[in-house]
Amino acid sequence: MVRNYIGGKWCEPRGAERIELRNPATGEVIGEAPAGDAADAAAAVEAAAKAFPQWRAVPPGERIQYLFRLKRLLEENFEELARTITIENGKTLAESRGELRRGIENIEVACGIPTLMQGYNLEDVAPGIDEIMLRQPLGVVAAVTPFNFPAMIPLWFLPYAVACGNCFILKPSERTPLASQKLFELIGRLELPPGVLSLVNGGKPVVDALLDAPEVKAISFVGSTPVARYVYAKAAANGKRVQCQGGAKNHVVIMPDADPEMAPKVISDSAFGCAGQRCLAVSVALTVGEAHEKFREAIAGLAGSLRVGNGLEEGVEMGPVITSESKRRIEDAIEKGVSDGGRVLLDGRRRDLPPQGYFVGPTVLEAVPVESPLTKTEIFGPVLALEQVRDLDEAIARMAANPYGNMASIFTSSGQAARRFRNEVPAGNVGVNIGVAAPMAYFPFSGWKDSFFGTLHGQGRDAVEFYTDKKVVVERWPREWMRKF
Ligand code: NAD
Repeated sequence: MVRNYIGGKWCEPRGAERIELRNPATGEVIGEAPAGDAADAAAAVEAAAKAFPQWRAVPPGERIQYLFRLKRLLEENFEELARTITIENGKTLAESRGELRRGIENIEVACGIPTLMQGYNLEDVAPGIDEIMLRQPLGVVAAVTPFNFPAMIPLWFLPYAVACGNCFILKPSERTPLASQKLFELIGRLELPPGVLSLVNGGKPVVDALLDAPEVKAISFVGSTPVARYVYAKAAANGKRVQCQGGAKNHVVIMPDADPEMAPKVISDSAFGCAGQRCLAVSVALTVGEAHEKFREAIAGLAGSLRVGNGLEEGVEMGPVITSESKRRIEDAIEKGVSDGGRVLLDGRRRDLPPQGYFVGPTVLEAVPVESPLTKTEIFGPVLALEQVRDLDEAIARMAANPYGNMASIFTSSGQAARRFRNEVPAGNVGVNIGVAAPMAYFPFSGWKDSFFGTLHGQGRDAVEFYTDKKVVVERWPREWMRKF
C-alpha cells in the first residue's frame, strides 16, 4: 500500500477509496494507492508551514549538502529505481534509466544555489544611498506531477524548491506513485528537519486542498491541458504563483535535404519511444516535397521492426501504454483517423503483441485530414501521422494553426531553413536535427500556447526565479552619522 510521508514520518493515508495499480506490461496487480483525502494535504501543509521559519534560516551552502547526499543515494539505488519505473509505467529499462539520469541532473544544478540565488546591488544610487536586491524563499510550495515520468518530473521542482529555502510537498500521479515512494524512502535517510519535504498521494481531492490552502504560496503542475488550465485558473484566483505544463501535439518537418538515414531513425525514436507517452514525442511528420517518398518507406520500415514487449526484458525497444483505457482510447483514435480518410502504412492494432498488458504497436498513417482528431489533438500513444506539404511556409503555418506549442523540430542540412524555422516556429522547445528537444537541467523546460500556462518554466534559472521572491532594499547611511574613531 502506498503511504504518505508527512512531517518526517511515514503515515497511512486517510479515506477508504483505493486505486488498483497494475503493471501495464502484464496486467498484474502491483499495489494500491489512495484516491486522496484533503485532510492528508492539510497535515502536510501544516508540517511544511511549521518547518519553514527554521529551514529558510539554514545557510544555502548547508541546504545543498542534503542534495549532495540525495544524489549519492539515488546513484547507489539507481537500478532498483529504474526497475520500479519500468514496472509501474511500462517504459523500457533504458528509458527508465534515462529519465532518472535527467532527474538527477536537476539535483546537480540545484546544488549551485549559493551562486544561482544571489541577488545584485548598486552603491550610490543617490548620494549616500545604496540599493540591494535579495532573493528570498516563498514558504510552502507544492508540485502535482503526471504518470509518464514518475521520477524525473518531481525532480524538475523538488531540488530547486528546497535549495532556495522553501518547504516542498509532492503530489505524484495516482497511476504511478511507486517511484516517489522509493524517492522518499531515500529522502527519509537524509535527516532533513521534519516537514521540509512531504509526499501526499491521491488525485483531485489532494490537488484541490493544496490549491485552496492559503499557506501554499506556489504550485507547479505538469499534466494534460484541461487539468493544467484548471489548476492555473484556481491557483491564480487564490493568489498563488503558478506554472502549469500541459499537453502537446508535436510536429516535425522533414526537408528534401534532410539526412535520409539519420532523420527517420531519430524521428522513429521520438514518435515511438516511451510508447509515444512523452510530452516531447513527435506525432505529426510534415514532409516537404520530394522528401515524402523516401521518408514514408523508411519510417514505416523502422517502426515495423521495433521489438515491442515487457520493458524489463533485454532487447525490448517499446513497452505498453499505461492502462487498458489508454489502449482503447488510442485504438479508437486510430480508427477515427482511418474513417476520416487516413491511409494506414503500419497498423499497430494488428501486430502480434503480448496477450497480457496494454500494448499498442507502432502505427503510421498518412494523408489524415487536418481536422481529424488524429492530427489535431494529443493522442499520447505510439502513433505518427505523415503529411506531405509544399514548402517550409506551409509547414510553419500548419504548426501555427495547432493549439499546442510544446516542441517543433526540423530536419535539414540547410542553415538558412534551420535558422528561419528556429526564428518563426511558435513552440517553446525547438529541435534542429533533434527528435526529442528536451532542455538540459540548466535550461528552462519551455512550452508555449496550450502547452504552458504561466511565465516562469521549470528547471535551471527559471526554477530559481519561480521559487524565490525579490526584495529590494534602499538604504541611506548619511556620512554625518559616521562616528569618528
Ligand atoms: P493528468 O492531467 O491526467 O494528471 C496530472 C496530475 O493532475 C496528476 O497528478 C493527477 O492526479 C492530477 N489530476 C488529474 N485530474 C485532475 C483534476 N480534475 N483536478 C485536479 N487534479 C487532477 O495527466 P497524465 O495523464 O498523468 O499525464 C499525461 C499528460 O501530461 C499528457 O497530456 C502530457 O502531454 C502531459 N505532460 C506534459 C509535459 C510538459 O512538459 N508539458 C510533461 C509530461 C507530461
